Parts: sequence; structure tokens; C-alpha cells
Amino acid sequence: MSNVHGDFSDDVKILALGGGAQRKYLTLMRDDIERILIDEAVIEKRLDSMAVEIERDFPVGPMVVIILLKGALVFAADLLRRIPRPLEIECLNVASYHGGRESSGKVDFLDRHFPEVKGQHVLLLDDILDTGRTLHAVSERLLEEGAVAVHTAVLLAKDKERAEHVSADHVGFEIGDEFVVGYGLDYNGKYRNLPYVGVLKRSAAN
Ligand code: 5GP
Ligand code: MG
Repeated sequence: MSNVHGDFSDDVKILALGGGAQRKYLTLMRDDIERILIDEAVIEKRLDSMAVEIERDFPVGPMVVIILLKGALVFAADLLRRIPRPLEIECLNVASYHGGRESSGKVDFLDRHFPEVKGQHVLLLDDILDTGRTLHAVSERLLEEGAVAVHTAVLLAKDKERAEHVSADHVGFEIGDEFVVGYGLDYNGKYRNLPYVGVLKRSAAN
């Protein structure tokens, strides 16, 4: 079969190979997961309603979205495609975990330039609210830089006492106080591309 994009048959073969390899790697990663906490279909459904809630609560007019890298990347990509208004996307690199499982207690801004937010309403996206230090530090900085208001949305919020008095305006799911990976969240840089959120086996965390 051919059309303006050329012959499809080779593409189909490559896709088939890719699918097999993908399944193999997903299975390898699955072996490190103790249990799946939130599966893909449940996440997708919740993102539909979260997008509606954000649209309803965010003032009419321009929206500047700040994505906290790298953890919020997958969440943001799926959520923002459900928000039907013109928006500007900016990313910020911050670090608080430094690759391990425990928060360092300090939030580092890693970028040389800070996005222009003066006079803007900002939607700040992060993967998970844990101690609250990240969301607190970044919200404060955005306000210092002249943002009119900061609205926050996280995919996950751990049910625990926070180091900072901070809550997110929009929370996808409340979870227990355990270390999770997948759907953007990593352990030492791995597991971000799992399509679900899961709890890592102790043995995989050594
Ligand atoms: P907080 O500053 O609220 O303590 O933590 C926020 C950041 O810590 C998140 O953006 C995320 O990078 C990391 N984090 C907190 N809890 C978890 C977790 O259970 N799993 C992973 N992979 N990262 C976490
Ligand atoms: Mg993070």
C-alpha cells in the first residue's frame, strides 16, 4: 500500500519489532515493581476530570504552565493536551532528591535562566507532593519573580505531615507514604517510562 507518505509496509514491520522490544523492556521493569498502585486507565480517566477542574478554576485569559523536570514531564504531556486553551509552556529543573529515596531538605534551582512570569497567572505542575519543600520553594520564587498567582497541580500527594505548610490546588491521587515510581517518577533515573504508578521492590532499590 502506498500514499503520499510512501510505502507503509516497512514501517509496519518496524513498529511490530518495536512493540516486541517494548513489551520485553516493560516486562523487565515490571519485575522490579512490587505492586501497581494506579494503572494507566485509571490515570487517564482522572486526567480527564482534573483538566476540567483546572479549566473551571483558572481565570479566563493567558495561562503560563511551569513543568518541574523531570518528574512532571509525563503527567504534564498528558494533562496539557486535555486543556483546551492557548497556553505557554516553560520548564524548570529543580532537585531535591538527588537521585535517592530521601528528600535532601534543600531545593536547588538548576537553570541559568528563570522563565518570564511577571504579571502572569501560572499553573505549576509537579509529579508528587511529599515534604512540600519543592512546591513551596518554587511557588515562592514564582511570586518573587512577579507572578500574579500560582495555581498548583500534582499527580500524586502523599498522605503525611509536610515540612512546609503547602497544599496543591489540584491533586490527581492521594497515596500512602511510600516510595513510588513510574509515569514520570524515577529511581536513580529509571522507571520514568512505566505507564503506571507502582511501588518499587526493596530488592530493586539497592
Ligand atoms: P517534596 O519537595 O514535596 O519533598 O518532594 C517533591 C519531589 O520529590 C518530587 O518532585 C519528586 O521528584 C520527589 N519524590 C517525592 N516522593 C517521591 C516518590 O515516592 N518517588 C519518587 N520517584 N520521587 C519522589
Ligand atoms: Mg521531582
